[in-house]
Amino acid sequence: MIASVLLEIKAKNVDKTFDYNIPEFLKSIIKVGMRVLVPFGARELEGYVIKIKETNDIEIELKEILKNVDDEVILNEELLAIGKYIQENMLVSLSSAYSTMLPSALKAHKKTQISRKYESYLSLKIPYEQAYALCKNEVQKQIIEMFQDGLLISKKEAQEISSSAIKTLIKNDILQEEKEESYRYQVKEFLRDDKKNLNEEQSNALEKIKNAFGKSKTILLRGVTGSGKTEVYMQCIEEMQKQGKQALVLVPEISLTPQFIRNFARRFGDNIAVLHSGLSDGEKYDEWRKIMRNEISIVIGARSAIFAPLINIGIIIIDECHSDSYKQENRPKYHAQDIALFRANYHKCPLILGSATPSLEAFSRAKKGVFELIELNHRVNQNPLPEVTIVDMAKEVKKHHFIISELLEMKIADRLNKKEQIMILLNRRGHSTTINCSSCGFTYKCPYCDITLTFHKSTKNLRCHYCGYTKFLDDVCPNCHEDALNYYGLGTEKLESALKEKFPNARMIRMDTDTTNKKGALEKIEEEFRDHHYDIVIGTQMISKGHDYPNVTLVGIVNADITLNIPDFRSGEKTFALLYQASGRAGRGSLKGEVVIETFNPDNHILNCVKDQDFLRFYEYEMNIRKTLKYPPFYYLAHLVIKSKSYENAKTEATKVASFLKRKLSKTSIVLGPTTANMFRINNVYHFEIMIKYRFDDFLKSALKELDELFLLNRQVDLDIDISY
Ligand code: ADP
Ligand code: ZN
Repeated sequence: MIASVLLEIKAKNVDKTFDYNIPEFLKSIIKVGMRVLVPFGARELEGYVIKIKETNDIEIELKEILKNVDDEVILNEELLAIGKYIQENMLVSLSSAYSTMLPSALKAHKKTQISRKYESYLSLKIPYEQAYALCKNEVQKQIIEMFQDGLLISKKEAQEISSSAIKTLIKNDILQEEKEESYRYQVKEFLRDDKKNLNEEQSNALEKIKNAFGKSKTILLRGVTGSGKTEVYMQCIEEMQKQGKQALVLVPEISLTPQFIRNFARRFGDNIAVLHSGLSDGEKYDEWRKIMRNEISIVIGARSAIFAPLINIGIIIIDECHSDSYKQENRPKYHAQDIALFRANYHKCPLILGSATPSLEAFSRAKKGVFELIELNHRVNQNPLPEVTIVDMAKEVKKHHFIISELLEMKIADRLNKKEQIMILLNRRGHSTTINCSSCGFTYKCPYCDITLTFHKSTKNLRCHYCGYTKFLDDVCPNCHEDALNYYGLGTEKLESALKEKFPNARMIRMDTDTTNKKGALEKIEEEFRDHHYDIVIGTQMISKGHDYPNVTLVGIVNADITLNIPDFRSGEKTFALLYQASGRAGRGSLKGEVVIETFNPDNHILNCVKDQDFLRFYEYEMNIRKTLKYPPFYYLAHLVIKSKSYENAKTEATKVASFLKRKLSKTSIVLGPTTANMFRINNVYHFEIMIKYRFDDFLKSALKELDELFLLNRQVDLDIDISY
């Protein structure tokens, strides 16, 4: 028998399959989808068996497989097919598709050897009376007494009495040791909580979803903030479990907090595997094996959990489906929703997309009937959505209120008085975004990127938010040596100082990537805020996601213009989602919520849609713009970035790429560019971009593939392709 083995040969993204003989002793072991070790030239490489056949196609002497790497099949039939789907649709090699899908412990390379963890157990080797009689001292007797009722006892536990005595007892054949595989991560046990009585909207949603069981159907569940979507998900899963099937739940990384996992553990116990970036490679390996062995029936995870090797999926749920985090930024640039659709088809099960602010693409599909639309229009607590006020900062500045408006200040004071909690959103971290000299005009810029350095006061340094370059701030201007450095632009650190000045007695905490980069830090802040150790939390978009703090009654949004001003056709959509979600943090408990939005564009239509919490109006408005400008969902977009350390090379190649595309693509497609990218220079690499707007273009994939292969050979210039931008 012969196995075709997929090997990744490190020449940029190319993969090949090679045939090997399966030696006699491996014939009953080797299966399609297993990892094997094979000789390759002078080296030994790991690869996946992707086919087994009886005879060789051509008459050559084949080498033999050396051994199997695991006892289990790593890539089952479905995962093999998903890899092919990614290869075909996202322009990558098959081996890099599999590599993306699998946790690092299961990738086919020998670098990461992650072992399984074993727990040692002890038991009596001879009858109890006999063992007791053989004990030489009190300590030994004390240990043997633990085994009186014939149980296995963990070696660790027994060693707490005396590890030397244990050693002797094993040596004297009184105790015996056995090893059992154990998992590094366990969902903690919590008091179970019963399912809630659904309100009318929720039970209506549950019924509709139940009707889709057993069908590959996509449902968009659009529910306003606080409408109880999670409860609907959980009851769907309960129903699914009655049918003996499994559930796959995706949430954005940032919402995958202990709080979220706890809610599921309260309902489903430890019947859950969890996959997210906070786990170690060993923990991920163990979670993966629990799933492969069919020991759990619910997987909760971030983007890459969409590849979890469940074999009997009954429902797939993508919560906060509008989140950017579901799209992988590196190649393969897959979107979890596309993989979810593939799997829902494979398993004939429904895919539920949940959000208060679905993307225009998703909502327009729902309106057209491609997806079924289910809506939850009311909050569970029957409270109205929070009342939103827009403050014109141009007027405030004239009254010398620079960061915090009079209204916001008044409302903060009021909530502090009432012992209620406050969230303040400012979507920019650091202290000041621009430091320049008022004497000579000098500005600190990143030497490698086209951007000013942000000052971080807590660490007293200047940082580039693109490449990570840091330097200490000088006491005087490094150019003219005058003591005239000024701080402009507002980040969360400066906002925190400003609030502390106004409310010296309020307890405040900052939540942004700078304060949460250590493991466990985010959880600590969340827990302490929940327990009211703080009155105010100040944070970036991090605070807008999913949190459910019942005592928050005021949300302040400072400088709402930041996301609005990002030059991207999706900035309106992103701003709406961010501000709507942030607003939705207020008034989730029994108390009514209020929101204050500070802006220099008080008449901006998107901000006014947020004010009225009116998704539909936002949708109609934005769809009109998209239609006029030929953007998604009216056209698909492919985005190409041409990068090089040499400006000239990048520019020349970009021009060539654009004319190649104009020649190759169908007349209905529009090729725009090349233009310089928004961030033209990052880390001394120049970026040009080309945008393709297309509807149906039979030539697109082959043209992009041709380009891609061409650039694989180019050492000076890189081409980065995103076929569904
Ligand atoms: P969403 O995700 O839609 O913003 P959540 O699922 O976080 O809303 O629900 C908001 C709050 O309402 C949670 O504390 C949840 O436990 C509670 N809740 C949900 N459904 C019900 C219900 N039927 N009865 C009582 N409380 C509920
Ligand atoms: Zn930089």
